[in-house]
Amino acid sequence: MNDTYIRILLIDDDEDDYVVTRDLLSEASGLKHTLHWISSYDQALGIICENKYDVYIVDYRLGERTGLDLLYKASCNGCRAPFILLTGEGDHETDLKAMNAGAADYLVKGEISAPLLERSIRYAIRQKLTEERIYHMAFYDSLTNLPNRVLFQDRLRLALANAERHNHMSAVLFLDIDNFKRINDTFGHILGDRLLKEVAGRLSSIMRKCDSVTREAPDLFARLGGDEFTVLLNVISETQDAARVANRIKESISMPFNVDGYEIFITSSIGIAIYPVDGEEMESLLKNADAAMYHAKEHGRNNYQYYKQYMNAAAFERLTLENDLRKALERDEFLLYYQPLIDLNTGSITGMEALIRWKHPDGGIVPPSEFIPLAEETGLILPISEWVLKTACAQSNAWRAEGNKPLPVSVNLSSQQFQQKNFINNLSGILSESGISPRDLSLEITESTVMQNTKTSFASLHKLTEMGLLLVIDDFGTGYSSLSYLKSFPIHSIKIDRSFVKEISTDTDNAAIVTAIISMAHSLRLKVVAEGVESADQLEFLCRQGCNEVQGYLFSPPVPPEEISRLLLAEARGEGIGDLILKKGTGHLKTI
Ligand code: C2E
Ligand code: CA
Ligand code: CA
Repeated sequence: MNDTYIRILLIDDDEDDYVVTRDLLSEASGLKHTLHWISSYDQALGIICENKYDVYIVDYRLGERTGLDLLYKASCNGCRAPFILLTGEGDHETDLKAMNAGAADYLVKGEISAPLLERSIRYAIRQKLTEERIYHMAFYDSLTNLPNRVLFQDRLRLALANAERHNHMSAVLFLDIDNFKRINDTFGHILGDRLLKEVAGRLSSIMRKCDSVTREAPDLFARLGGDEFTVLLNVISETQDAARVANRIKESISMPFNVDGYEIFITSSIGIAIYPVDGEEMESLLKNADAAMYHAKEHGRNNYQYYKQYMNAAAFERLTLENDLRKALERDEFLLYYQPLIDLNTGSITGMEALIRWKHPDGGIVPPSEFIPLAEETGLILPISEWVLKTACAQSNAWRAEGNKPLPVSVNLSSQQFQQKNFINNLSGILSESGISPRDLSLEITESTVMQNTKTSFASLHKLTEMGLLLVIDDFGTGYSSLSYLKSFPIHSIKIDRSFVKEISTDTDNAAIVTAIISMAHSLRLKVVAEGVESADQLEFLCRQGCNEVQGYLFSPPVPPEEISRLLLAEARGEGIGDLILKKGTGHLKTI
């Protein structure tokens, strides 16, 4: 940012404001910039759509309209540059509205100094860059640059909603390269990766070449991981359309690839599932396209198959699971495990996250990933969540009764639970019944839950903080990663998703993102927790970046409550799990 000119557009209907801004900017000597000024709303919108500026400074009052209207309009039109709003009166309501609308900052006219303006501009641009990078990492595959699973599922969901509304068919294709493992084994992973990139390039060029009028144009390619790709056809008029696309892909893939001087021949197997006949929901369509792909493999590879019902014995299993889940609460089959959080400065345990387990009548322990989605689909999540809250509060009391120091227990909130109308009342009820202090309960909420209904979420979060609870944004980095939102939400900490932590020591991009998240969060005075810490390398990196707390297998997996009691007892004797790994008091590493 230092050696390039920052292009600034001021949108303000008052020439005096322009003069003031111009003079302030020329005083801000550290900021190489160009400043243009425009006075009308309509003119501004046209210019914003051209994406020629790095930052917009917008007056709140623009004749009949407001700067907020412009901000909404601009972001609907795909404008990604940051907005700084100039407010007149400095009234809190407008400021809040500005932040909620996604403004990077607001400045109160008459109270602006050159350094303040400069800092605000730099901060806005830096924040936007970080957001863009996190966004890209969260939604695109880093090897091929194709959309990843998350983005694909999002688009598929949209396509299905449209298909339902307009009563047309859509298709999902699941594509897998045949015998890809052999290529990796023969030529090595580096060449394998290059080949996957080439495949992605070829898929993308099919998308560009296809004629969208004949409805044979794929709308989206994504890489799910490994050698698996998916294709979305938003609208098809007959099931044959999907087969034509499948054929085109199959032919394109079977042309020789030239990688590192080797001529490589590959083929692909493709499964097709059609909305609505093969499934009405995203999950079922993807699953059925996958099942069809396996059949294509069994049919000698290098071909495509439509989904047929017999391909899915799994549907039956699901039904059984659902029946069992319905009975699990009354049979008292759920358990809460707890995973300690370690303070990186002191090495001591500062809290624990409650994680649910299901002790299935067949004997095995079922992890939440296998039943929470089903519980959400069936609405069973609400009674289960209530059980979790009550059990966690009771456990907190039990630990206290054993003479342990008070430590907050973190509970994961499901989206349905948080959006529930009487959630706050229920929660207060549970708190007062258990008698624990709200300070001893921390709630983990994902960004996507918060963003579902920002207005009510905002009110609920405020209410919860007023009650004295601690709020954590969970899985940070996988969703919107909107730092401008975070600024206006009353939260205490963010938890960096473990997918980022996993690769900090091997992937420089991920390391840079984690560094940026930590410094951003700190500048917003938020505590940063990293989850999924498994290795000394990861720990060392996080320590160096000033991360506040960690949680992960390196210290302890989630364990039954008795085990936590033992850990706390050991810590009181000076043999804490954190101490074993961290040097007490300094945050420097001792044994590693
Ligand atoms: P989460 O909130 O992101 O929880 C962290 C997950 O990471 C847990 O998986 C935990 O066991 C796992 N983990 C902890 N340390 C490490 C590590 O070092 N390496 C790796 N690879 N993983 C680690 P778990 O227990 O299977 O839970 C999965 C998800 O299920 C949770 O993700 C959370 O979203 C959900 N969940 C769990 N308990 C509840 C609950 O009571 N209510 C709700 N609504 N969701 C829950
Ligand atoms: Ca969590
Ligand atoms: Ca997480």
